[in-house]
Amino acid sequence: MNKVPFEPRLSKSGLCSDCGVVAILADNGNMKICPRCYGVLWSRDSEDHLRKKQAEATAAAARMAERRAFKTKLKAREEALKNKDVP
Ligand SMILES: [Zn+2]
Repeated sequence: MNKVPFEPRLSKSGLCSDCGVVAILADNGNMKICPRCYGVLWSRDSEDHLRKKQAEATAAAARMAERRAFKTKLKAREEALKNKDVP
């Protein structure tokens, strides 16, 4: 059995990172495969998936920042109230 040590990827110059062969389009341009090792180097699906994941991460970070800002606001209000009690 021919085992691939690592999953080939599409290099910046459009080559298979494993074989150094120019990737070819497949599946009506939805996929780029290596003609030598037949590895799927790129697919529209995986890119969409990645973009979705990045968007989720960005949204989560924004939510966290919002919550942190809210907490800071609460704390500031608490401090202000405390300062009011002091004559
Ligand atoms: Zn390859």
